[in-house]
Amino acid sequence: MPQLVEYIPIVGQAVIDDLMLAADRLKDKTVQMVNSTAVGGGVAEILNRMVPLLKEMGINIRWDVIRGGAEFFSVTKKFHNALHGKKEDITQHDFDIFMETSRVNIEQLEIAGDIIYIHDPQPAALVTKRAGNKWIWRCHIDVSRPDKVVWNFLNGFIEKYDAVVFSSPDFSQTLPMRQFLISPSIDPLSDKNKDLPPEMIDAVLNKYQLDGSRPIITQISRFDRLKDPVGVIEAYLQVKKRVDCQLVLAGGTAADDPESVHVFEEVREKAQHDHDIHILLMPQNDLEVNALQRASTVIIQKSIREGFGLTVAEALWKAKPVVASAVGGIPLQITHKYSGLLCHSIEGAAFALKQLLNAPEYARKLGENGREHIRNNFLLTRHIRDYLLLFLSLYQTENVIFF
Ligand code: UDP
Repeated sequence: MPQLVEYIPIVGQAVIDDLMLAADRLKDKTVQMVNSTAVGGGVAEILNRMVPLLKEMGINIRWDVIRGGAEFFSVTKKFHNALHGKKEDITQHDFDIFMETSRVNIEQLEIAGDIIYIHDPQPAALVTKRAGNKWIWRCHIDVSRPDKVVWNFLNGFIEKYDAVVFSSPDFSQTLPMRQFLISPSIDPLSDKNKDLPPEMIDAVLNKYQLDGSRPIITQISRFDRLKDPVGVIEAYLQVKKRVDCQLVLAGGTAADDPESVHVFEEVREKAQHDHDIHILLMPQNDLEVNALQRASTVIIQKSIREGFGLTVAEALWKAKPVVASAVGGIPLQITHKYSGLLCHSIEGAAFALKQLLNAPEYARKLGENGREHIRNNFLLTRHIRDYLLLFLSLYQTENVIFF
């Protein structure tokens, strides 16, 4: 695990000094992070990197994961979809399952912190245990158009929190407490993002039987309908009529996402007649994901909804040209025609992919701009600074907060 000093060449000494200053003022506080999975998906990805660094900075922090069975995670997946605006058939029985698992977690999960930081809806009900400490609800979901029934149900818990954090201004809601805008981040020194020797990239190409001499379009994502893997195949098929290229759809499953197995099967079926489509069900393997991103000519992220889209930041950090849907937190990362291309449809995605494959110099420039944009805005050090300032602000009694 990289130490804090190793970030100095990337972000500068002043950034690290500021972090240490803020951390010093939180030395007497304990922080507890709670989410619903230790691996898979963006939240686990961030916590795996952030918690050890905060520890190194002297913050007394722990990370707990709630427990839940398949039924609970089927319900929370429906909630997840509904909060993203998808029509879901949610019954009283579903709410009862959510409440029952929440009850068990409330009973069994030890809450031990001055600041309790709850990620996403799955553990939201833990706030019932509130006792003189500060509670933050961190929403990683694109709730720009949430299903009202699910939102109102969750709101019963959310309104008990001291602060709520969203990834994009578009997601803010009418709530009685302060709301904060904090975007997620990537760790430039993690196995997922660090520089790799060319031999390692070649080895991964060989392992997955990819041809390094022809263009490769890649989407790395959980097999989730909101990531639109079938739409990616359709866009690729339009591109393929003009450019001889390959498509990689690589993803794993997350412990809290039971739908992914079915989506994976759908995608495999759709791809079965084209040998240039590679559907990779990858175990959690950060080095391989890194190598695949680096081996790709263009990265696509054709999400239908997206809280932030770490995969976009990961690709841009590798100076890759990216085509991504203009949804959720993606436009924070991509300024159209400057740091990537935004799209709104399958046809739009296909058009943008062809444009990048046919103009390598333009593609290179977009990738370079994207890398600088990520360096300035979406690296872990900025994210940690925002969290520390948020924690400090919880103890500020005045209305005005100077960030
Ligand atoms: N990821 C991975 N392996 C996979 C699929 C995804 O390591 O098979 C990682 C991906 O590189 C990114 C994170 O999981 O770091 C996904 O975060 P994102 O915000 O893109 O989407 P989420 O899954 O949280 O909706």
